[in-house]
Amino acid sequence: MNIILLGPPGAGKGTQAAYLVDGRGMVQLSTGDMLRAAVAAGTPVGLQAKAIMAAGELVSDAIVTGILSERLDQDDVRRGFILDGYPRTPAQAAALEALLAEKGMHLDYVIVLAVDEEALVDRISGRFSCAKCGAGYHDRYKLPVRAGVCDVCGSTEFKRRPDDNAETVRTRLAEYRAKTAPILPFYEAKGLVRTVDGMAPIEDVKREIAAILDS
Ligand code: AMP
Repeated sequence: MNIILLGPPGAGKGTQAAYLVDGRGMVQLSTGDMLRAAVAAGTPVGLQAKAIMAAGELVSDAIVTGILSERLDQDDVRRGFILDGYPRTPAQAAALEALLAEKGMHLDYVIVLAVDEEALVDRISGRFSCAKCGAGYHDRYKLPVRAGVCDVCGSTEFKRRPDDNAETVRTRLAEYRAKTAPILPFYEAKGLVRTVDGMAPIEDVKREIAAILDS
């Protein structure tokens, strides 16, 4: 089963993808994570992407499609993948079609997490993650059970994304509205879109997505 999780920043794509990885053995393909790894490693792609990401703008279609294409060539994606943060423009949606056809893969669903934009700045500006295993947390909605200790791996180090600040979030939302939302009709025409209420509690969203994948 191969799916796209689509929704603005803060909609819960990463949280729900993590559940699908744990529960179904699917592979999360987050182009944001791939770019952050490239930035951290100081690769040529990372050097090009760093300032663009810090400003909340979109990295070029060619760069992002290139890193995704390489990732899709690794064997583990055959277990089923979740695209998180890609495609983000109509050109990326077209590029994805070509990539999947070339690699003999297909999409089963495009799951849209519908959210109230007003809530997103609040959601995003409170989030942080474990520096060791990447488990996601939130200052108000999902604190570790033991203060300062990761529930998953026990690490006591946490980090926040530099682009999770109110100003950058507004740019990222504007980018979503202008460039990503317009790809929806393309997938609607293919009958792949299923919309889930992303404002519902995390467990409800998880259950709804499971129901779609099991249908
Ligand atoms: P995310 O982790 O998905 O919120 O992505 C963080 C940042 O990485 C975005 O604000 C963009 O600068 C960049 N990025 C991630 N995925 C893409 C993509 N598919 N196309 C262009 N830029 C991307």
